[in-house]
Amino acid sequence: MNQRFGPPMRKPPTDGLAKPTRLGEYPAYIKKKIQGFFHRFTYIVGLVYKATPALLIVMCLLCLLDGVLPVLGAFVSAELLNEIQELITQNSWGVLNKDSFETFSPLLFMLLLNLIYIFMRKVINRVSIAVTAIAGELVSNHIKLIIINKSRSVDMASFDNPEFYEKLENANREAGMRPLGIITSTFSVISSIISAVSFVVILSGVSIYISLIMIAAAIPSALVNFFFRNKNFRYIRWHSKERRQMNYYSSLMVNKDMAKEIKILGLSDTFIKKYKAVFEKYFKGLKKLYIKEGIAHILASLLSTLVQCGVFLYIAYTVIFEGGMIGDYSLYSGALTSISTYVATVLTATATIYEGTLFIDNMIAFTKEEVTVVPCIDEPLTPDRNAQHKIEFKNVSFKYPGTDKFVLKNVNLTLQNSENIVLVGLNGAGKTTLIKLLTRLYDPTEGEILLDGRNIKEYDVAALHDMFGIIFQDFGKYSETASDNIRFGDVLVPHDEGDVHLAAERGNAKEFIEELPHGFDTPLTRIFEEDGIELSGGSWQKLAISRAFLKDSDILILDEPTASLDPLAEAEVFNRFTELSRDRITVFVSHRLSSATTADKIVVIDGGTIAEIGTHNELMTLGGIYHNLFTTQAERYREK
Ligand code: ADP
Repeated sequence: MNQRFGPPMRKPPTDGLAKPTRLGEYPAYIKKKIQGFFHRFTYIVGLVYKATPALLIVMCLLCLLDGVLPVLGAFVSAELLNEIQELITQNSWGVLNKDSFETFSPLLFMLLLNLIYIFMRKVINRVSIAVTAIAGELVSNHIKLIIINKSRSVDMASFDNPEFYEKLENANREAGMRPLGIITSTFSVISSIISAVSFVVILSGVSIYISLIMIAAAIPSALVNFFFRNKNFRYIRWHSKERRQMNYYSSLMVNKDMAKEIKILGLSDTFIKKYKAVFEKYFKGLKKLYIKEGIAHILASLLSTLVQCGVFLYIAYTVIFEGGMIGDYSLYSGALTSISTYVATVLTATATIYEGTLFIDNMIAFTKEEVTVVPCIDEPLTPDRNAQHKIEFKNVSFKYPGTDKFVLKNVNLTLQNSENIVLVGLNGAGKTTLIKLLTRLYDPTEGEILLDGRNIKEYDVAALHDMFGIIFQDFGKYSETASDNIRFGDVLVPHDEGDVHLAAERGNAKEFIEELPHGFDTPLTRIFEEDGIELSGGSWQKLAISRAFLKDSDILILDEPTASLDPLAEAEVFNRFTELSRDRITVFVSHRLSSATTADKIVVIDGGTIAEIGTHNELMTLGGIYHNLFTTQAERYREK
């Protein structure tokens, strides 16, 4: 099972830059880091812009307003306090004219402004929340689509590679809110800088130095933040395997196909235990990291609070002894608190942006996953359709990427038009692998495969795939209607009901489909629909075979599609298959050799090599592997 997750990586991932060993290397290192940051950052802005350009602009405007408003608010409340203090003083001197509207009108005006200010802040806050939520959905959807689109073009070989799953898991995890988080943090940095600078200007009325002291006091906190964001990033990436293991165990528990076995074998506890063990391991390090970060932050805050107290004292002293008013104290002390808050916001948000851009590398890495199954020439060929074809395997050997064992060795084989070929061999002999090479899901490690005299690598891959009607052993069981399940066999061409019914008839499925509650429109599986129908294994196979029969394919391949069918049903499928083979190439992989007796060519694969080729009679006369397999099976049937 561990095989699924692959071996642990040797080195923890970084952002790709080796740490300098000498002091002189630091400038270049820092320059590269900053360049890397901006590269990732522009990538993210581009991503969000593509997902939702209008909302990005709205967010930008809101950010500017958010930056300016607090400063206006501070002025309004200071003026309000000054007005109140003025009235209190007049009252204490007995000169307050209580009956005159003029006396109170400045206060009322300031109150009104204050009201407008408070209301505006609430409106902007609400609008920001709504805009961010909508943008979040759009961005996350946009990124999910990028991932889905990329997934469809990646090589089959990638699915055999644990590193690919790691990239996929990392990309999927980051697809959610990370890019939008980076954008909102960026806006928060911009608006905080606007506010902080304005407050610094206000405070310069007292002294420019106290602003600088406040900013300096925030530096330890910033360093703590950057240090731990980097550590956090490394930890999470380094432990991708454990997260994938947790996902795997939890998905096993909710996987319908696995549910039967897990229940009967009582495996639930085993997997839950494994899940918990992996979580413990994963969480242990993370918890330590969070606690250390918390302690470091508390120490940094202690320092900045002490500095803040000193500066407060200084302001109070200045206001009292230089004839200021209470509103002035409120303005200056408020400015001071705001500066420290905004500086903290800028530093935290910058650290979040930094961390986010590191994570976004995961996505970039996934979207850059190399695709090797592409045409090898600039102007790929399009295969002739409905023509006479010839396929030749020339000295083809193959080992799965990342493995050392040749599963096919020096295969030489010719498949001709109108030929009905049956592939025979023990489990693991290499039959399916041969089909995977023929359909260019993988490329041979050695040798070449020719279609009509040209290497299949020279053809357009989608056009090449379109030539094949194929059903694999582990064919898809889609939660769609019976009709759509057949239509999926040829989505490039619109097929009417007649075509679908004919394919169902050829696949021996029509009879049972017509008996379903809604016939061909019956939804299959009960994942989505209450009135969905669960089919038996044999019925699914008939449906899948019909799917292969729908397409007017040039090469029809059925890879052990009849394992769940009884011998009679299999014979019937094989007869239809033979009928269809008249003007195309048909390849049938089956364990049951009774199907092979009428084949034009039987290819016996043994341990990755072609051991025997011939008709039934020829191979029986040869008295080799085929003869042995056939007689053993025939005897078993006779006994039955
Ligand atoms: P058959 O179809 O004859 O039963 P396969 O072609 O499926 O055999 O498998 C041939 C050999 O290739 C087996 O040893 C199998 O374990 C190995 N194999 C199949 N798929 C992969 C893969 N994705 N990665 C590595 N080895 C594989």
